[in-house]
Amino acid sequence: MAIKNEYLLSVLETVKKRNPSEPEFIQAVTEVFTSLEPVIEKRQDLIDAGVIERIVEPERQIIFRVPWTDDNGVQHVNRGFRVQFNSAIGPYKGGIRFHPSVYSGIIKFLGFEQIFKNSLTTLPMGGAKGGADFDPKGKSDNEVMRFCQSFMNELHKYISADIDVPAGDIGVGAREVGYMFGQYKKLKNCWEGVLTGKGLTYGGSLVRKQATGYGLCYFTKEMLAANGMSFEGKTVLVSGSGNVAIYACEKAKEYGANVVAMSDSNGYIYDKDGIDLDLVKQIKEVERKRIKEYADRKPGAVYTEGCKGIWTIPCDIALPCATQNEIDGESALILAKNGCKVVSEGANMPSTPEAIDVYFAKGMLYGPAKAANAGGVATSGLEMCQNSMRYSWTAEEVDAKLKSIMKDIFTACDTYSKEYGMEGNYMAGANIAGFLKVADAMKAQGAV
Ligand code: NDP
Repeated sequence: MAIKNEYLLSVLETVKKRNPSEPEFIQAVTEVFTSLEPVIEKRQDLIDAGVIERIVEPERQIIFRVPWTDDNGVQHVNRGFRVQFNSAIGPYKGGIRFHPSVYSGIIKFLGFEQIFKNSLTTLPMGGAKGGADFDPKGKSDNEVMRFCQSFMNELHKYISADIDVPAGDIGVGAREVGYMFGQYKKLKNCWEGVLTGKGLTYGGSLVRKQATGYGLCYFTKEMLAANGMSFEGKTVLVSGSGNVAIYACEKAKEYGANVVAMSDSNGYIYDKDGIDLDLVKQIKEVERKRIKEYADRKPGAVYTEGCKGIWTIPCDIALPCATQNEIDGESALILAKNGCKVVSEGANMPSTPEAIDVYFAKGMLYGPAKAANAGGVATSGLEMCQNSMRYSWTAEEVDAKLKSIMKDIFTACDTYSKEYGMEGNYMAGANIAGFLKVADAMKAQGAV
């Protein structure tokens, strides 16, 4: 992936100068720019309107102190973030991540990607992301609650159902969303759909929990079908064992695939007979324990320390669903050598640029994150819609809408890749389709 267009290179230089210690953000911008060269050549009007310079600069970044007290009365201070990146096509929308690795570069890359992903869903949502360098692992429910309340004590000033609607991400699931929603309601004295991923008894949408993982499989199924393939009988690797991974595994199995491995940040399990998903759910969702437990409880399953090793298992399809840059060039080469034909991304930016180069060089099918994992935010958009209507759709209704959105996203990726002379490059198709809608909206609204 190399950018040749001088104008894009000059904007990228400015991005690098302004954000020198944020490699993930620079990586995300570079990837989008590689796809935009043919667009920029046709659309001088977007250059004249300054759209490219504006789209790489967040509209607003909020960084705040999050003090909290642990169960032993010891004081702690974490750093909270909300990056409101782009509101051209709708209120800011994007998840909140609680993980010790969180800093502004991570939140900015996620917020930037979110702009294009949300645009691809066709729903009216702008791009944002937030989080904190807080590690919920090993904390009691009360500690997590106090942290979430403290986080919201500051964040509530900047969000509302029509301004910015956060959701979950790594380390933020239904429990954390519930605590944050409760605190927002108390502070604002207002019940509104200000967060998505809520519990079903207080405004949550059916199928939201499953949506990113299911959506990934709906997208991948379309991509496979367009290339004469299917999930049926395929060996699949799913990295991670959190929300996205669990429901990607569930749908891939339903489609007839044999999912043989999952992981967490400590290591991975290999179960050649096929992952017992009920056991994974028990360990991860109910007991909140490590994936290692699986091998202790399931005869024949093997646990190996170190999460990168999962990519050395021979497979037909790889679904990375853990975190950014989890597949590097070396792992991509091993996947290809072992016969992997498809990589479709549940996690955000899980492939390094070198890995993506390998996918294209080896003729693998590549489903890029901002298209393949858009089912989560799409269903969040459906949750916002239900909250506004004071109404709930059935699981079948939400699932049918999700399926149709994912099918349309694949069609957009395919169509735009062909229109701009890069047939089969769904990354370029996704970037171009997502970009054009936002760029046209920004231009129409003037230089604000
Ligand atoms: P969860 O917190 O539920 O699960 C994350 C999983 O990934 C866990 O198994 C975790 O292991 C593993 N993981 C996290 N960090 C690392 C790391 N540095 N190295 C290796 N493994 C790691 O998060 P989600 O399932 O919600 O999110 C997973 C990915 O999907 C993220 O990239 C997220 O941005 C993306 N995504 C999520 C959406 C959603 O709706 N939730 C929507 C769209 C994208 P451990 O428990 O050891 O930390």
